[in-house]
Amino acid sequence: MTTYTPMMQQYLQVKEDYKDAFLFFRLGDFYEMFFEDAINASQLLEITLTSRDAGAKERIPMCGVPHHSAKNYIETLVQKGYKVAVCEQTEDPKQAKGVVKREVVQLITPGTIMEGKSLDGKSNHFIGAAEQFDDTTFGYAYLDLSTGEAVASSIEGDGKALLMQMQAYGIRELIVTENLQLLLAEHAVNVGIVLSIETDEMTLAKAAHYVEAVPNDLQIACLRLLHYIDKTQMRSLSHIQTFTYNEMKNYLRIDSSSKRNLELIQSIRGGDQKGTLLWLLDDTVTAMGGRKLKQWLHQPLASRSAIEARLANVTDLLEEYFVRTELQASLKQVYDLERLAGRVAFGNVGGRDLAQLRDSLRQVPVIQQQLRGANKETLQKLGVALDTCEDVEALLARAITDNPPITIKEGDVIRDGYNERLDELRYASRNGKDWIAQLEQEERAKTGIKNLKIGYNRIFGYYIEITKSNIHLADLTRYERKQTLANAERYITQELKEKEALILNAEEESLTLEYNLFVEIRDELKAFIPRVQALAASISELDVLVSFASVSEKYRFTKPEFHEGRALEIIEGRHPVVEKMLNKQMYVPNDCVLEDNNNMMLITGPNMSGKSTYMRQVALIVVMAQMGCYVPAEKARLPITDQIFTRIGAADDLAAGQSTFMVEMLESQHAITHATKNSLMLFDEIGRGTSTYDGMSLAQSMMEYIHDKIGANTLFSTHYHELTALEKELPRLQNVHVSATEKNGTVVFLHKVKKGAADKSYGIHVAQLAQLPEEILTRAQVLLENFEAGREAGHEAENEAAVVQEVDEKTMQMSLFTEEEPISPAESEVLKNLEKVNILGTSPMQAMNILYELQQQL
Ligand code: ADP
Repeated sequence: MTTYTPMMQQYLQVKEDYKDAFLFFRLGDFYEMFFEDAINASQLLEITLTSRDAGAKERIPMCGVPHHSAKNYIETLVQKGYKVAVCEQTEDPKQAKGVVKREVVQLITPGTIMEGKSLDGKSNHFIGAAEQFDDTTFGYAYLDLSTGEAVASSIEGDGKALLMQMQAYGIRELIVTENLQLLLAEHAVNVGIVLSIETDEMTLAKAAHYVEAVPNDLQIACLRLLHYIDKTQMRSLSHIQTFTYNEMKNYLRIDSSSKRNLELIQSIRGGDQKGTLLWLLDDTVTAMGGRKLKQWLHQPLASRSAIEARLANVTDLLEEYFVRTELQASLKQVYDLERLAGRVAFGNVGGRDLAQLRDSLRQVPVIQQQLRGANKETLQKLGVALDTCEDVEALLARAITDNPPITIKEGDVIRDGYNERLDELRYASRNGKDWIAQLEQEERAKTGIKNLKIGYNRIFGYYIEITKSNIHLADLTRYERKQTLANAERYITQELKEKEALILNAEEESLTLEYNLFVEIRDELKAFIPRVQALAASISELDVLVSFASVSEKYRFTKPEFHEGRALEIIEGRHPVVEKMLNKQMYVPNDCVLEDNNNMMLITGPNMSGKSTYMRQVALIVVMAQMGCYVPAEKARLPITDQIFTRIGAADDLAAGQSTFMVEMLESQHAITHATKNSLMLFDEIGRGTSTYDGMSLAQSMMEYIHDKIGANTLFSTHYHELTALEKELPRLQNVHVSATEKNGTVVFLHKVKKGAADKSYGIHVAQLAQLPEEILTRAQVLLENFEAGREAGHEAENEAAVVQEVDEKTMQMSLFTEEEPISPAESEVLKNLEKVNILGTSPMQAMNILYELQQQL
């Protein structure tokens, strides 16, 4: 190392502390990178790799980016999941003895980036921290550095469930301990979350107010997160709010795969939000409102009074059409108060930001007036409760010009009359400029040169310019020549130089003063941040409520009713997104009535008849209602649901490397172990990923279990017609079916859900409609009758019908549809071994091996 130049030694020393980041090392107007960093960055950023003499024998790799465009490069790297340490010169190079002092002033990471395109207005940008309590419980905390919102909560499930949850919230970076990192690393890559290791925590003494609302066991995650942010950002975090504790029982819990299955926020195909419930419900007009809506969708409520309070507001906004449209127009003028407050605290606020803050605050009294002027008391109350922050607006109105530039070093930010000294300086410079304009007139008169002019450039300052043809008219005893151009000469005079010094001094001093005043105002504003944040929260909620009213009107939603029982009654319900997508066709509304003594539904019907849509629509209505929104139904009378579980096939399960059937079983396991009698469970085509009897048996035993042990409101769809017979054995189960019919020789789906089981030969019926050859249809009918006969036979006696043997004797023996039969010792050994297998802890590959061994034993 000693052979390197002193500067390179300095570099290496700094780099030692930032091994996992790209070090942007400030050298004059560039940020330079060296060694490995340079090689990697040149590829990632597509910039030229060069080399530099650094004192050692060989030149070292180097690449660099200009400091003024560094933001974009930093953003690119951070987008790709890397971290960037920004190392600045922290003393004036002119004053430095030896190597200029340099320090890292900020570590920019995927979770802490505060600028650029990645900060989409309608999404939060969260960074999280997680802590494992035991095998199936994790605590976590997350916050948005740009808005200051902070939340702590916990989740039941494995590491994968935790990561899925983090991903669902849009968390890009998760702070973990080393042990947790080992557990999560593999799956974190799949879901695109960067894990950062942190072992230290902010002391409780320093962080007490942040975590006062958080239970003890969750505080570690909060403190670790705060420490990481403090360490990487190295600046005021005064805008970070007290962590709110989201106690699970206060919310309708929906695990992340169900959120995806139901397409609440992301569509199953991924990509844009089109086709999601969020897309449908989003009529918000502010970025803050957009984020709030997303949060509400992530966490619908589970407290009846809180839900009804939101619904009451929506009702009033619906009824007061004018207030609502006025409100929406005023809300549109409100910029992102939360992020503006964040920038104030963070110290990266510019002149234009403060003008936006002022202009937004100006709208607040207008909004308050609109609410107060409403007829409904709930709206008037919302208005009264608003802290309009008029003192903040007054300060900004006094201090900031109407249209300040983005940067704060160019002047024109502070308004005339705000500061006496600034006014004097501005007067001096304006006065000097007037004097110069005057001088131009005078010199023209004295010399008689009409095109004589006074100009300015950065090198020579002010000068008098005379074209060559007129020089003979000038009084050269007063003029001193400064510069010769092709067809003109430039001169200065003593007086001109004196005035110039005055003007330039005044200008320089005024820029410095403006900057200092700006910093003072910014610091003064910090005290107001909590109030501006509270205002932002009220405004964003109002925006969402107005949006609920507006979509409810647009799509003819009605107000849901809640009651203390468990019965669920939806009359003429619709799937709001499918309905919107079906442009000309009519959506067929359907009822869903689950009563205490009849709260499981088995849905049969051909493919494409609408089974899955029907189940989803019930779930969406429950979600929307518990968010406090109206619902797509003629009438909805609902219980308070605590959790929603879905098992609905999704194509991307396969991509994750697990067999669809295993995923199906894992999701079912999760649902069955966590559901309560207050939950809603949806199982679409359970068991279809395995052989018929296997699948059918599993489906039946699961239904029996849910019926006897859980009692949750449950919708099951199946194409195993045999299962409809269960209605006789399970008193709380009802059969329904979705019908299809024929029109001019083609299959027509009526999408109407009707009582009773589907016609058992509906598959063959559809085949007939599709005009398959008669021969195939007849043969299928015969086979069906044989299978039926076989099944009955198995049920009634030990008499083995030929057809049963034809199917698969061994499967039949394990099927729940046959009586038990004596089995051989080898078989009983196999069964014993089979029983010992821990299916949920077995990978698909291991399962194959086990299966192979078992088969060998027979
Ligand atoms: P299944 O689950 O029975 O295979 P889906 O629920 O996927 O069927 O429905 C298939 C298609 O039928 C949907 O994409 C939708 O376009 C249409 N559909 C479903 N339900 C309705 C309905 N109630 N009214 C109108 N169209 C419907």
